[in-house]
Amino acid sequence: MPDEKKLSLQDFSKEEIAEVLKDYPSFRAEQVYLASMQYKEYDKMNLPKDILAYLGERYLATSVSVHKVFEGKDGTEKYLFLLADGNMIEGVFMPHDYGNTLCISTQVGCRMGCAFCASTLNGLTRNLTAGEMLGQVLSVNVRQGGTPKDRKITNIVLMGSGEPLDNYAEVTKFLRLVSAEGGIHISLRNISLSTCGLVDRIRELADSGLAVTLTISLHASTDEIRETIMPVAKKYKIAEVLDASRYYFAKTGRRVVIEYSLIDGVNCKIGDAKRLARLLKGFSCHVNLINLNYVKERNLKGVDKKVADTFMATLTECGISNTMRRSMGNDIGGACGQLRKKFIGEEENH
Ligand code: SAH
Repeated sequence: MPDEKKLSLQDFSKEEIAEVLKDYPSFRAEQVYLASMQYKEYDKMNLPKDILAYLGERYLATSVSVHKVFEGKDGTEKYLFLLADGNMIEGVFMPHDYGNTLCISTQVGCRMGCAFCASTLNGLTRNLTAGEMLGQVLSVNVRQGGTPKDRKITNIVLMGSGEPLDNYAEVTKFLRLVSAEGGIHISLRNISLSTCGLVDRIRELADSGLAVTLTISLHASTDEIRETIMPVAKKYKIAEVLDASRYYFAKTGRRVVIEYSLIDGVNCKIGDAKRLARLLKGFSCHVNLINLNYVKERNLKGVDKKVADTFMATLTECGISNTMRRSMGNDIGGACGQLRKKFIGEEENH
């Protein structure tokens, strides 16, 4: 039986491993930390048996394992990761000219209930630990032929399943671990954290000194429309979310990204674009438009090219910087929790 409570070596910083191994010579902690960053199992670690036994009784050597990989034509790879307790999460590897981005999950499921998002359909199962987030990065890095120094992952987006700021303690711990010198050392500048807009947590993150790129899932230009697709909008009004975003920019100097998924019949008229532009006027942000990936369960659809082009042109005319997100990996079960859901469904049908 998998042990639900066991943490993995990836849950610990180098200093914490040194603390765990304080009765051994200090170079042993260095070796264990390196082996953890190389994502080695205990039987592949060149260390004395007593240390391996000591660690093995307490901690997993690796937090997640790659269960399946689906390779798309455009080089995108979708990963299904298996956790020690048998739960499944997903990630997406996207190669670019400037480097490679990995999209990771922060929770098993999600409790935010956004109408268009497949990750939330069965609610929240549990939070991931920081080590389970780092394990996604390290396992894909190794599979791509990377090492902690010669990384094959240069950018990370926290846009898989889960609401990162609903798992604040572990997510911020992960940000410290993944950006630590001597580890895989991915710069905070190259990490994007996407949130549905938990205002208090946005402010806390701004004060934390962890200056990642903040991405706000806005998806509407009025509170009334937003409430019909995002339950969180009942708690936090758009004005509050944007105030917190301005605070984030003031504290970190990082330009905020506004995510806006175009949903047929909901939020994509010219009037919506004009209202959105008015809301964002004078704020140093960038709008990232996404054409909604169809979610069958909710019967919400994206828009055709003409509608998307008109929306973009209207924003541009109003002086709002915007781009349409390139859709990657469509042939391998696309967006946001769809792969895990499909896979779990298939397993259940067998
Ligand atoms: N909980 C975080 C991360 C969610 S996933 C958040 O709310 O930001 C990253 C982005 O994909 C979010 O902007 C989310 O709203 C969006 N998204 C979810 N399902 C989608 C779908 N079916 N089509 C397009 N975008 C979707």
